[in-house]
Amino acid sequence: MNIFSSVAKLHLESHKDLEKASVLHVLEDTKVAKVFMPAVGPNGADMNVLVKAGDPVLVGTKLAVRKDMYVPMYSPVSGTVAGIELVYHPGLSRPANHIVILNDGKNTRLPDALKVIDPETATKDEIVAAIKEAGIVGMGGAGFPTFIKYQGVKNIEYVLINGVECEPFLTTDFLSMQLEAKEMIQGAMLLKKACDAKEVVIAFKVHKNAVKEALDACISCHPGVRYVEVPDVYPMGWEKALIKQVFNRTYEKLPAEAGVIVNNTQTAVAVYRALVKGEVLTHRLVCVSGDGVKNNGNVLVPLGTLAREVVEFMGGYAEEEVVLLPGGPMTAKAAEEDGFPIQPAIGGLTILKNKIHHEVPCLRCGNCTMHCPAFLQPVEIMDALERKDEARLAKLNTMKCVECGLCATVCPSKIDVSENVKRAKRYLKFAQAKAAAKK
Ligand code: SF4
Ligand code: SF4
Repeated sequence: MNIFSSVAKLHLESHKDLEKASVLHVLEDTKVAKVFMPAVGPNGADMNVLVKAGDPVLVGTKLAVRKDMYVPMYSPVSGTVAGIELVYHPGLSRPANHIVILNDGKNTRLPDALKVIDPETATKDEIVAAIKEAGIVGMGGAGFPTFIKYQGVKNIEYVLINGVECEPFLTTDFLSMQLEAKEMIQGAMLLKKACDAKEVVIAFKVHKNAVKEALDACISCHPGVRYVEVPDVYPMGWEKALIKQVFNRTYEKLPAEAGVIVNNTQTAVAVYRALVKGEVLTHRLVCVSGDGVKNNGNVLVPLGTLAREVVEFMGGYAEEEVVLLPGGPMTAKAAEEDGFPIQPAIGGLTILKNKIHHEVPCLRCGNCTMHCPAFLQPVEIMDALERKDEARLAKLNTMKCVECGLCATVCPSKIDVSENVKRAKRYLKFAQAKAAAKK
């Protein structure tokens, strides 16, 4: 099925001030007294915590390892462990245990925290093992462990570096690709070797001349790397849409079925720094934007810094009542508070004035169905959810929703359609698990 044979794409007002986005703001390490590192995985899985209150730590000290799969987490600062605290986790929408570290601001590094490899001689298995040991997770929003995409894969032709950043407001990939083009390409070359791909393709949206200039300056030294510009439509950054656009290929479950592995631009940079320089991830770029914050811009912050401190660094909130989205406005769910820490997958704090939209009854206009890139019928899914009709929800392929938020954006009745579809997914998952347990 051609995912773009319908109107399942939409040009959205970008709200990206590219001039402002090209300026790097730096929140100095010495200004962050404490960092908070989650003692749970992004899916809520527990971690084995390896440190205790009073322990000294250096940049690169291993703090914890996920229990469900081997994903280590390292200290981004040097200092002392203060203990474990319950802190709001926006991905889980609830408080969760976090390791609190009192930052001494000295940035003292643990020598040999990560073993470096030689990109020329390392085998593909060695590269994958090094990515795993570095605890690298996707920095495009999902936080999925990177090594899993590469472990044991076969028949991969392309590594697709996704710098599309299709949601309004977000611009960290745009800045990273300008400042870190060389490292991104070198990281992508390692990823290419890790899966025996024949080519690296870097994708970003049209009209990003600064990115083109940065890539043109270094791409020629790397045979087997090229870039493509893709249309400025949403959700072009969704892997399925991007693979269709760039390679005219489609797949059912995973991009590898189409011979492609997709990684975010900043993930490629993290791979290079970890594997070649031996550096654990200590900072990330965060795009602070929207009409609810005094100054918009991209800030480099130590991981574990509270969102509230990042907002304060950018001048504070513009109003008393705002909506804070840890991510972009299409996919992120409003945070209940701003006392949550920045983690590798949080690249944006979108802060909007709290405009109250009055929802009116569904007009049955069909807009949500026409625009759904996953070819779902959101209005029917909402009806089935209201009737708690599991069989109908399953028949409507509810679980295929990619949570892009487009249905809510196009709804003239201001219904939060995507949130309702997400609820339907949760309901169906729960109902199916309950039925399976009875068997
Ligand atoms: S949020 Fe889900 S149902 Fe809504 S348009 Fe996106 S994929 Fe379709
Ligand atoms: S877009 Fe909104 S009003 Fe139109 S059918 Fe969907 S839910 Fe109803």
